[in-house]
Amino acid sequence: MPSQLISPAVVLRVQPYAEADLIVALLTAQRGRLDVLARGARSSRKRFAGILRPFCQLQVLVDSKRPGSLHSLTGAELERDLLGTTVDYGALCLASYLCELAAHVAQPEHADPRLLRWLVTTVPWCGELARPDDLPALKVAAEAGLLRVLGLLPDLLLCGRCGGDLQPAGHWEPDGHGLLCTHCAPHQRDATPHAVLAQLTACLASSERSAALQIPATGRSLLEDRLQRLLRQAVPQAGKAERALRSHLLGLD
Ligand SMILES: [Zn+2]
Repeated sequence: MPSQLISPAVVLRVQPYAEADLIVALLTAQRGRLDVLARGARSSRKRFAGILRPFCQLQVLVDSKRPGSLHSLTGAELERDLLGTTVDYGALCLASYLCELAAHVAQPEHADPRLLRWLVTTVPWCGELARPDDLPALKVAAEAGLLRVLGLLPDLLLCGRCGGDLQPAGHWEPDGHGLLCTHCAPHQRDATPHAVLAQLTACLASSERSAALQIPATGRSLLEDRLQRLLRQAVPQAGKAERALRSHLLGLD
């Protein structure tokens, strides 16, 4: 197979291989997750000019091998650094978590432009982090965005059982998978007013960082728990970056 020029390709993860090489996990629109071998990337600084690191969006040239073996990275150019260089530890934790999620849910060699779009939208949110308080809101909004890409985000305005409007309030199902109307869940106390659900829906529908920061605090705490449970369906175990982010957020409380 001839070399293929792929753009954009976002670096999710990098690991040393043999004496001088790197294995780079890329997320691409055309081919989903693509793991490539960058020969000599550690022995020669010139070869890839320090751009094979997480959060870099690249244009890459890939020599494809037969299925099941590692492809070769023969060229790479930086398009942009999604995170930027002046970020604090919390921002780095969140951005690493987002890349970790993408690496878990991406299908190898399977086109997924929506997943790529989600990643290139949400990682830059972390780079602009202004206040530590912004971190939990951005995390929830990014998780909701990923659940939407995966088709797992429940409609926050419609009953998950009968499809009716959640008026005057929605009740979270005990198993945490969705919301029910007052008719379908007459004995549930855990009610969220329709106005809050509408506000959450508006915030989550936007891919703007500013909308994510407008998620009301009450709605956010409701979502945090429920979205986590939904996310566990796609990513059964918390990875290293998720654990680091969690302990960082606990420290902020
Ligand atoms: Zn209902």
